[in-house]
Amino acid sequence: MIGRHRRKKIETAPVLSVVLAGVFAGSVALAPLDGDSGDEGAGRGNSAEAGETRPTKAAAERTERSSRRADEPPRKAPDDCDPSKSTARYANGRIPVDQLCELPQGGEYLRADAAVAFYKLNAAYHERFGDQMCVRSSYRGYNKQKRLYESMPAGMAARPGNSKHGIGIAVDLCDGVQRESSPQFKWLEDNSEKYGWIHPKWAYSSPYEPWHWEFDVGQE
Ligand SMILES: [Zn+2]
Repeated sequence: MIGRHRRKKIETAPVLSVVLAGVFAGSVALAPLDGDSGDEGAGRGNSAEAGETRPTKAAAERTERSSRRADEPPRKAPDDCDPSKSTARYANGRIPVDQLCELPQGGEYLRADAAVAFYKLNAAYHERFGDQMCVRSSYRGYNKQKRLYESMPAGMAARPGNSKHGIGIAVDLCDGVQRESSPQFKWLEDNSEKYGWIHPKWAYSSPYEPWHWEFDVGQE
């Protein structure tokens, strides 16, 4: 239902547009976002499994480590990730990353209470599928949300300042979860609530975002 979307042209002075294009390209490459229903994140799905020449053991291990999040047992939330820590004083999209907790996937952040719950959900998911959850997007700062909002068709991205991503309690998932018919999606549907995570009703239809999940405890 949701295809890939053309980005709006940025119409600015030539020099500025070059700079902006660079920034913009960077953001697109780094952050798969709502509305991008592609099945694979950057670099995924190309792990070496075809019958290529046999790499050395060390090289094979390196490849394995860099291309998979699997194998390692899922980590527990770090000790300094304190779920009682409030970020309520920060506006949507304005939370300093050091006030958030990094997810086991690395480079992704959530509010502490949502993160602690996510670590537990991630461990249960790992037990079921032998792999950690695949996270394409989590906390999003205001400017990133603004760029997203401006680049998407109306209704496909929350207005900056209104996104659940901006308060660090939403994730966009991948590796199957982005398809409602997948075993991963069904498993999450059946199990996520035990860990305080839900697939919000709106995301079943308007807009249809099977990949979008929210922490549902203590939302205001
Ligand atoms: Zn989302």
